[in-house]
Amino acid sequence: MAIEPFAAVDVIIAKRERRELTAEQIAWFVDAYVRGVVAEEQMSAMAMAILLNGMTATEISRWTTAYINSGTTMDWSKLGRPTADKHSTGGVGDKITLPLVCVAAACGLSVPQLSGRGLGHTGGTLDKLESMPGWRASLTDQEMFDVIDATGAVICAASDTLAPADRRIYALRDVTATVESIPLISASIMSKKIAEGTGALVLDVKVGSGAFMKSVEQARELAQTMVSIGTAAGVATRALLTAMDVPLGRTAGNALEVTESVEVLAGGGPTDVVELTVRLAQEMFEAAGVQPSKDPADSLRDGSAMDVWRKMISAQGGSVDAPLPIATHSHVITAAHDGYLTKLDALAVGMTAWRLGAGRARKEDRVQAGAGVRWHATQGEPVLAGQPLFTLYTDDEDRIPSALDALADGFAVGDQSQIQDRLPLVIETVS
Ligand code: URA
Repeated sequence: MAIEPFAAVDVIIAKRERRELTAEQIAWFVDAYVRGVVAEEQMSAMAMAILLNGMTATEISRWTTAYINSGTTMDWSKLGRPTADKHSTGGVGDKITLPLVCVAAACGLSVPQLSGRGLGHTGGTLDKLESMPGWRASLTDQEMFDVIDATGAVICAASDTLAPADRRIYALRDVTATVESIPLISASIMSKKIAEGTGALVLDVKVGSGAFMKSVEQARELAQTMVSIGTAAGVATRALLTAMDVPLGRTAGNALEVTESVEVLAGGGPTDVVELTVRLAQEMFEAAGVQPSKDPADSLRDGSAMDVWRKMISAQGGSVDAPLPIATHSHVITAAHDGYLTKLDALAVGMTAWRLGAGRARKEDRVQAGAGVRWHATQGEPVLAGQPLFTLYTDDEDRIPSALDALADGFAVGDQSQIQDRLPLVIETVS
């Protein structure tokens, strides 16, 4: 048996005592964990020491590199078009990836979007697309290449060989209360995006009740950390801090969000979804250092983004014209009196959609394609007595009472003067 260069406990003590870990210690610790030499409880202790004591920028870069080196990396150089991707830290009603990859591809970029499934109250892009009959999330590397080569974009699941150390450590963090660490979140997200091989990357860091980061200060720190990691790894990275105090668009739930995305691709849809899609597309081109072949907003009006969508979904087995699943039960909440929707809280809406069956509590849970929430008015809009405010959808009627509980304090109807302040859609840029 090979002699190990370190004892795991010594490396944990170093972090516990706030000493900076060396490149060798970090590379060994992560690799030895993947090989089964560092035990689960030792990685758990290390994750907690990192959460409590933090990491220097150098340590975070090394930790990220160790994740990348635990698996394979992808190479898109044969595509002949610049690659750019976007990653959102997750929000409620955040379906932006769906229209965005099509807009970016229609204007000249290649978008290799390796996505995940949702956990908790935020939705996952793959869950949304899997509501389309026949659509396949798992592709071989060759299939991925062929889809992106033919259509300009691909959205699919990351293969098991991409940053496998992160996959295992993320599962451990989930059960050891160590998710909320900026160094660990940054390394987790950036290792996958760097290994994915994109040339440019735009991070959409959400801020507010429905996001991981509740304050602008926390979000800014996360954004700056991730931008530094990406830049150091040679990926042209920038970030936008964007609002997640109020949910995006008008729907949260898998098939509901696909329908709303198709409305955006058809030139309509909610203004906040359109505005953020266009803004993120512009940022992707700026990060990639290339001029779009047309104004990204025009690609939504002239049908070219929709053409990409139809080709991309069909190339992955999806039937673009097939009807999407509709939940078997619905429940409408109406306004008790005239006034304004003075409050619409993103977390409450996300929890409601989750309780209706749109999201999962554990990784192995199944999601309902048709479940979710539609809000007929958003914060600040006038409403009339008797007007529908929300429609709740689920295949399981028994879920409705607990969904109503989740929503109860998440909205209010009152006077115009009572409308809560909200964050601007785009708060700031970090580059
Ligand atoms: N998303 C990730 O991929 N990793 C984290 O640690 C948090 C969010």
